[in-house]
Amino acid sequence: MLVDGIGELVTNDGGEGDPLGVRRDAALLIEDGQVAWIGSARDAPAADRRIDAGGAAVLPGFVDSHAHLVFAGDRAAEFAARMAGEPYTGGGIRTTVGATRAASDGELRATVARLRGEAMRQGTTTIEIKSGYGLTVADEARSLRIAAEFTEHTTFLGAHVVPPEYADRPDDYVGLVCGPMLAAAAPYARWIDVFCERGAFDADHARAILACGQAVGLGVRVHANQLGPGPGVQLGVELGAASVDHCTHLSDADIDVLASTGTTWVSGFEPTTVATLLPGAEFSTRSPYPDARRLLDAGATVALATDCNPGSSYTSSMPFCIALAVREMRMTPAEAVWAATAGGAAALRRTDVGRLARGARADLIILDAPSHLHLAYRPGVPLIRQVLHNGVPQCPQ
Ligand SMILES: [Zn+2]
Repeated sequence: MLVDGIGELVTNDGGEGDPLGVRRDAALLIEDGQVAWIGSARDAPAADRRIDAGGAAVLPGFVDSHAHLVFAGDRAAEFAARMAGEPYTGGGIRTTVGATRAASDGELRATVARLRGEAMRQGTTTIEIKSGYGLTVADEARSLRIAAEFTEHTTFLGAHVVPPEYADRPDDYVGLVCGPMLAAAAPYARWIDVFCERGAFDADHARAILACGQAVGLGVRVHANQLGPGPGVQLGVELGAASVDHCTHLSDADIDVLASTGTTWVSGFEPTTVATLLPGAEFSTRSPYPDARRLLDAGATVALATDCNPGSSYTSSMPFCIALAVREMRMTPAEAVWAATAGGAAALRRTDVGRLARGARADLIILDAPSHLHLAYRPGVPLIRQVLHNGVPQCPQ
């Protein structure tokens, strides 16, 4: 299949000084779900089928590297209360835990399917899905089993919060997470994650849990430095985490240690520890945004993700996060688009998504716009005209 008539093709394959690797008047050939050829339209080879982009911009599909889609119920009333002035403390997670435990497999599966479809229609072709609202051996295992029906990037987050029944014996809960819960979850999980935060898990507990996950072959990710300064970022880098997520409250030392792991912006896809920023959470909790400029100017690799969850960020929209990153976090549109595509891929240690080059997976989006700039310039507008996933056109809008 040939996609031609591309006014602006974002490849993320441009190298130093041109990270987006933008090409004009381009065409792209897809074979067997992969990009087989990219070049100028006049040199395009013949193909059985053709999609005419009509002068629109074509981008790699978004890579949402942080989402919590397995849950039941919603917390709209908590959101309303927060907007009326109540602070966010993370305590509402327990509300969702109760609803999730009470839900049937079918109800959980239906919610994941609905949100996965919603994300796909907004251009997300790769998504990570965490557990973390079951917090029993059986409920964490089934959350991951259901998540694995929708993505290869499943993350065991048994250490989301200490559930109420373990409130006065957190050491016992850590033992459960590292023992029977990890054993039941690991067959369905690729990653392990910990909410390392005051009121959740401290550095010693987080280190113990992440090390147990690493010992059974899971990659490390950390919820770090969201609600206040803390040890999460340094711990993540120490353990070789693929990503530390939130990064809202960073010290100079946190920035330095993230920058020291290197940047994939100019050097290709080195295994760095990515700083994944989740501005939907700050938006939905009316909190100060992370300082993206400080991270980027120091040379850290930055990704953007939705943090889609029913409490602190109930959006599945990567375009919304791009708009927030540009308007509220002073990222350039190019930096934000890179972070939402190649940055997310780096955060999942993937080299075959988040970019469009020969051999990459044919995951791409055709905008209803001539340029990637419109994703931030036209916030809230449904600009995703068509999504191709593994080279297959998804339901048109
Ligand atoms: Zn999260």
